[in-house]
Amino acid sequence: MIPDWPSERRRMVDRQLRKRGIRDPRVLDAMLAIPREEFVPPECRVSSYQDEPLQIGNGQTISQPYMIALMAELLELTGVETVLDVGGGSGYHAAVLGRLAARVVSIEIIPALARQAEQNLSRTGLGANVTVICGDGSQGWPAAAPYQAISVAAAAPDIPEPLLSQLDDPGRLVIPVGNRFDQELRVIVKSEGVTRERIATFCRFVPLRGDAGWR
Ligand code: SAH
Repeated sequence: MIPDWPSERRRMVDRQLRKRGIRDPRVLDAMLAIPREEFVPPECRVSSYQDEPLQIGNGQTISQPYMIALMAELLELTGVETVLDVGGGSGYHAAVLGRLAARVVSIEIIPALARQAEQNLSRTGLGANVTVICGDGSQGWPAAAPYQAISVAAAAPDIPEPLLSQLDDPGRLVIPVGNRFDQELRVIVKSEGVTRERIATFCRFVPLRGDAGWR
């Protein structure tokens, strides 16, 4: 039996997002609109709307819906921004950001996953304003900088300097920082030449690789 995806999506938005305090109506709308089941491998499709990360192959995961919604909400997107999405994975997070911003550059270090993200985005017709790049996102992607928002979906030992310098003013960056097992989700806000930082929550992401990652 094929699950009723729209109602699974509505239930996820009510129980996992609204109840936990996600308020931004544009974020809730995006989470209702993007078909997560199209971004997860066929063997775990039935679990698409579970309250947990899912395996997407190559030892990587697609983040829990709540974490994606929270990160998107913390970026306070209005629809005009260019966003850098570091750790493209399945392309799902990029699709959500693409609905909330003008343009998304999604960078993924594993070639097979970058190809997968590209295919998922084009098959669903959600790739029009998303560019998928295969490369080391711990160095950002200077070609399209500055970014009004940067979203990092892998845990870094510290905030990579290239990401700070490619962040526009005003601009917002969300990134999990910590060791391989425990991290804090940090929000960095650049405004009028001043950079402020706070911790939004605690979390657990897969490690960021690359030059400014865990290598
Ligand atoms: N946002 C993704 C899931 C992120 S999982 C989604 O919606 O599916 C974290 C991803 O970051 C993994 O795919 C991993 O390969 C990638 N990654 C790790 N280090 C990276 C780096 N330095 N640059 C780009 N991607 C990286």
